[in-house]
Amino acid sequence: MKKRIINLILIFVLIVLGGILLWRYTPICANYYYNKGKLLYDAGNYNEAVSMFEQATNINPDNAAYTHFYVASLTKVEPTYFVQEKLYNISRSNAEYSAKSLAKSYVSNLRNEFLEGLEDNYIVRAVATSEIIHWNLEDFPIKVYIQKNDSIPDYYCKMVRSALKEWEKRSGFISFSEVKSESESNISVVFKDTPKGNCDKNGCPYVVATTEHNVSNKNVLEKMVISFFKTNPYGDDFLSNEIYHTALHELGHALGIMGHSDSSSDIMYSNNYKIYDLFAAYRPKLMDISQRDINTLTLLYKIYPTITNSKIKNKEKYIYGPIVIGNDDSVLQAKLIELKKYINKYPQISAGYINISAIYEQLGEYEEAVENLKKAYEFAKTPDEYFLIEYNYAIISFNSQKFEQAKEHVQKALSYREDKDVRKLLEDIDKIMSEIDKH
Ligand SMILES: [Zn+2]
Repeated sequence: MKKRIINLILIFVLIVLGGILLWRYTPICANYYYNKGKLLYDAGNYNEAVSMFEQATNINPDNAAYTHFYVASLTKVEPTYFVQEKLYNISRSNAEYSAKSLAKSYVSNLRNEFLEGLEDNYIVRAVATSEIIHWNLEDFPIKVYIQKNDSIPDYYCKMVRSALKEWEKRSGFISFSEVKSESESNISVVFKDTPKGNCDKNGCPYVVATTEHNVSNKNVLEKMVISFFKTNPYGDDFLSNEIYHTALHELGHALGIMGHSDSSSDIMYSNNYKIYDLFAAYRPKLMDISQRDINTLTLLYKIYPTITNSKIKNKEKYIYGPIVIGNDDSVLQAKLIELKKYINKYPQISAGYINISAIYEQLGEYEEAVENLKKAYEFAKTPDEYFLIEYNYAIISFNSQKFEQAKEHVQKALSYREDKDVRKLLEDIDKIMSEIDKH
């Protein structure tokens, strides 16, 4: 009898526990998190709202209001690495329209912010592969070993040291310290015998130095090794400025610029470059570090590295790489240039302004987008043109969270013609507005 009671109690407890566990995944629970998030959001507690909306969207990823407010709250908190990564991924996902476009325009603004003052760069070529490699800023100075070698002229090492100083001075954030043994170094500079027998009737391949990176199978950057040849292929010593300019270039690689610049005025330019080729021969062109080199390096060190030498403690202050390396925006910018040419040629055709406005909208530059829509309206003639103008106004209002206004434009658009994307937008707006009215 007693045993039976205990069994019954056990079963009861299990049912209750199971109920609690399952409840966490039910729509009621999702709505509970959403409502709690909404209260926090309205009160301006965005950080807490983020985690509530996140739980709601985890349970029900297809709910337009959940994702919309999840994204909206993410755009209101500090853009940490975590926030950037979430928004970037939503902007690329199949999330419903409003959340996706809001994330997209926010990411685009963030990108402009990150690039401010560093716009002139070759970061896409510099990283070249999917990996971001650089030394951990928290472990600076970078330790450099310069091999002592009696069979080379004194000025070789002197020139390498000048090149180290130049990178420090020009970058304003790189710092090196020289160490006595190769084993404790991050970057080591060594001098090797020049290979013989590489010459043919056209001459000899002229190589001053190469750089190799050693990365462990756990993606830890162990060392960068810059190897200078002791002489040129004809057996003569290199000139001091050949050593200096080559050292500048190879140090750029050793700092993490794995690829090459496409402009001959940068130290990281290589006329025989292949994007991935760190081992490419380098014929010095007596170039100095350019502002573009510095912009690229500065940007590189702001991006969270996928390969570095030690554990990074403060990940959240870094840029999520794809935001600045992803090339969506550069494609849009190129389109913008083309469209501006079109407008100059046909300044009285509405379509040109509509298209430009759509690009500005995708770039998150709403004011410019609206200016162009006004122009488009001025020259519009056909119902199709009016439809597109209203549709674009609706999207801009929606992304600015002006839902009433968005709805008006959607209805005007639908008065010109029926369209299923616009219908879908109207549904989203109604859903969100009804959710807002609840509070
Ligand atoms: Zn190179």
